[in-house]
Amino acid sequence: MVGALPGALAATGWEMRVLLPAYRVVRAAAAGWAVVWHEADLWGGPGQVLAGEVAGVPLLLLDAPHLYDRDGGPYAGASGDHPDNAVRFAALSWVAARMAREGLDGWKPDILHAHDWQAGLAPAYLAYHGTGGVKSVMTVHNIAFQGWAPAHMLGVLRLPGHAFHPGALEYFGGISSLKAGLVTADRVTTVSPTYAAELMRPEFGMGLQGVIAARGAAVSGILNGVDTAVWDPSREKTAYDLKAMVGKAVARAQLCEAFGLEVPGPLAIVVSRLTDQKGIDLLPGVIPDFVLGGGGLIVLGSGDAGLEGAMRDLAARFPGRVAVQIGYDEALSHRLFAGADAVLVPSRFEPCGLTQMYGLRYGTLPVVSLVGGLADTVIGASPAALAAGVATGITFQPVDGLAFGRALTQLLEFYRQPKLWAKLRANAMAQPVGWEASAAAYAGLYERLIA
Ligand code: ADP
Repeated sequence: MVGALPGALAATGWEMRVLLPAYRVVRAAAAGWAVVWHEADLWGGPGQVLAGEVAGVPLLLLDAPHLYDRDGGPYAGASGDHPDNAVRFAALSWVAARMAREGLDGWKPDILHAHDWQAGLAPAYLAYHGTGGVKSVMTVHNIAFQGWAPAHMLGVLRLPGHAFHPGALEYFGGISSLKAGLVTADRVTTVSPTYAAELMRPEFGMGLQGVIAARGAAVSGILNGVDTAVWDPSREKTAYDLKAMVGKAVARAQLCEAFGLEVPGPLAIVVSRLTDQKGIDLLPGVIPDFVLGGGGLIVLGSGDAGLEGAMRDLAARFPGRVAVQIGYDEALSHRLFAGADAVLVPSRFEPCGLTQMYGLRYGTLPVVSLVGGLADTVIGASPAALAAGVATGITFQPVDGLAFGRALTQLLEFYRQPKLWAKLRANAMAQPVGWEASAAAYAGLYERLIA
């Protein structure tokens, strides 16, 4: 989102600069960038901010090697979460708030837009150390990640003791940087309208439902888009579009060949983190009947070791019909969307979700659970939607094997009706899934905020 939104927003007249930690790989790519900010004391060492541009996006990198120049991913190393995550992201938030408040070489932002728990303290630092006239927006991408720290760190994190109560910073006896952002930001957004409503309910709010509900009118949901230049069937090797679909058939044949599959019915894919959130554990219960009905499946993903094993078992049970590749492979995922007939997204919760939107764009029918952004992007093939000719996929609820199995039965039936199938596919491919609408919505939010 921080890569795509600035470009889309530029068309509305908003100029956005993105601040990121200079993680090891990022730092290496920023050699020679200008130093535009010095910070003497960032929890155990100094930091500086480098300025540059990547793919047209103005980028600010917080270079503090003692916090970010290390092995592993952004949040975790080989032995789990980095133990100093609370201060690593307090530092990012601190510098963001200071630069916003004080301005940078003649550039003074109107709004600080913070994303997820990593930036949650930025609105809090504005609120408790002075806003400098800057408004703030807090966006929740996934409420499952809340940035928890023990209460004794309050002073260390430069947060005021008077705010340590349940109405402000305290969260179940500790500190949650996400909650800090939610209670102090001028506006709260999340990445789909349905997720915004769901977050106020205990089944989805993960403890923060009361906090979100209390912000009431300040909360809204704005759908993410997908990068339509990167995700474009007419730019794949087996290029196709609505007017000439033969490339999709070629891609399907190549996929079956590569994975040793022979599938008379619909070929479905899953491209996903393999976690409970994504409902991957439902697949072993529903895929046998789907295969019996003529369907096939390719799974690309990694994550939970038990689910990886369950996917491998499924492939072993149905050779020639089910294939699994464990790992993260973006090039392969393009080939999968180009060649498959359907993409399965049975998530238990889904703030926005991207793969169902790739599915729409590629005419790879999304079969999705009716939660969060999935509910906001796919028009399910209900009798009414079919009669009106507007369906773009198949939706099901509740998120269980019975409903999912029924959805797959529907998929098999639709696939046997070429005219209906072509209509569904055309509807899907005609859906706008780019960033334009999202950018306009964010621009509207920003304008109302500074008015
Ligand atoms: P989440 O952010 O919860 O994982 P999203 O659907 O919002 O789910 O985004 C996931 C992104 O990661 C999508 O672009 C998806 O294609 C990609 N992705 C997930 N797993 C893999 C994988 N194994 N290989 C390639 N891309 C993947």
